Amino acid sequence: MKILSISEILKIKNIKKFKNKNIIIIGWIKTQRHSKIGISFIDINDGSCINNIQIIIKKNIKNYSKIIKLTSGCSIKIKGLIIKNKKKKNYEINANHIKILGNIKNPKKYPLSPKYHSLEFLRKISHLRPRTTLFGAITRIRNTFIFNLHKYLQKKKFLLINTPIITSLDTEGHSKMFVVKYNNNNFFNKKSYLSVSGQLNLESYVCSLSKVYNIGPIFRAENSNTKKHLSEFWMLETELAFCKLKEIINLSKNILSYCSKKILKNNKKDIYHLMNLNNLNNINHIKNIIKKKFIEIDYYEIINILKKEKIFKKNNIKWGINISTEYEKFLTEKYFKSALIIKNYPKNIKPFYMKINKDKKTVSCIDIIFPNIGEIIGGSLRENKINKLDKNIKRNKLNKEKYNWYRDLRKYGTIPHGGFGLGIERFIMYITKIKNIRDVIPFPKYPNYSNF
Ligand code: ATP
Ligand code: MN
Repeated sequence: MKILSISEILKIKNIKKFKNKNIIIIGWIKTQRHSKIGISFIDINDGSCINNIQIIIKKNIKNYSKIIKLTSGCSIKIKGLIIKNKKKKNYEINANHIKILGNIKNPKKYPLSPKYHSLEFLRKISHLRPRTTLFGAITRIRNTFIFNLHKYLQKKKFLLINTPIITSLDTEGHSKMFVVKYNNNNFFNKKSYLSVSGQLNLESYVCSLSKVYNIGPIFRAENSNTKKHLSEFWMLETELAFCKLKEIINLSKNILSYCSKKILKNNKKDIYHLMNLNNLNNINHIKNIIKKKFIEIDYYEIINILKKEKIFKKNNIKWGINISTEYEKFLTEKYFKSALIIKNYPKNIKPFYMKINKDKKTVSCIDIIFPNIGEIIGGSLRENKINKLDKNIKRNKLNKEKYNWYRDLRKYGTIPHGGFGLGIERFIMYITKIKNIRDVIPFPKYPNYSNF
């Protein structure tokens, strides 16, 4: 006998094929109703989709007295027939046999009683929160997103490179990195860290394989207790040979559009469930990305716009400043009401590896910022001339020797190249409208918190 998932059952077109054929279905109880005339209705979910399926149980079934005592969260295995509820136009299961797999001894102590739980409370029980409808939806969307990032890049012939998690190099130059030790000693012969980015390693591979990427964990010890920073998060990093900034912009837009389309197709009900929770009746924010509605603009133009705004202190805004969260919010949510691709930032506020433009003041880079979220993608062309790279290393007061292997890439058969980093959780926040990044990763790590 075949075990069918709820999503498989809901996709059945020709119900006649299942006439008089028992199937098996396994799941967890969401809700239950027992009528006085000796018939019970149990809704179960198995995670295959957001929908539950109703199991109809008549009192002549073995174990009936035990079954009616089951509560939300108990797991059961059902053998039965698929029937069509003509009124509700959906499928139900007429149970012939039910096996209780996992009972809940003391339902009053079960932390997930079927009432409303705040996201803060659920975070404290990260091992149980996947059982909620909300976290099921987020999890399926995250899965679709990451799978399709791979699919898109593989279709475009990018090679997956698993960059190291332990490293002795600091990619950004001055990052806050977690130190890796064993028994308080440096296990390796030099100070080693958890990686803040795999970019430099990808650059080594792009210098022979032309198109490479990785989706991996990133670790940052910044003490930033914000709604959009994690200490451990996941990032897509791409690196392309022989490219111009325009190609990096196009790749960014295309991959976000492609994945948004797939999410909307595969996870429509999950998305609408999330929108309902936000009292939203449209998905325009997703449609805008599918339609590639991004405004491309130079950093200096952004500064000119901010200077003219009376709500900001004029003296604070001058060429050379960082575009802070406050300004990002104003630009994406009030001024442009759109996602922005900001290009060509001053070299002094960007890392040493970025390629300096002809004006000698700015670097060839982009930040893609989204309404309500902030930065989703950061990308750039990389400096590919050894003398210029050495100058950048010096200007940033970095230790040249430490970057010797990276410098080798410029000494031997160098090529123009560039790429971007995309924060997986930031994009999922945007899609799902979940406001805290701690709720879009399975087991969040942040300052003072590393449970699970
Ligand atoms: P921010 O200014 O928002 O802290 P960043 O400039 O440090 O970002 P990058 O180093 O360019 O970001 O990293 C690439 C991408 O990774 C960012 O665009 C963002 O989407 C994501 N990201 C960066 N830091 C974090 C973090 N602490 N937690 C989750 N995602 C992050
Ligand atoms: Mn940061």
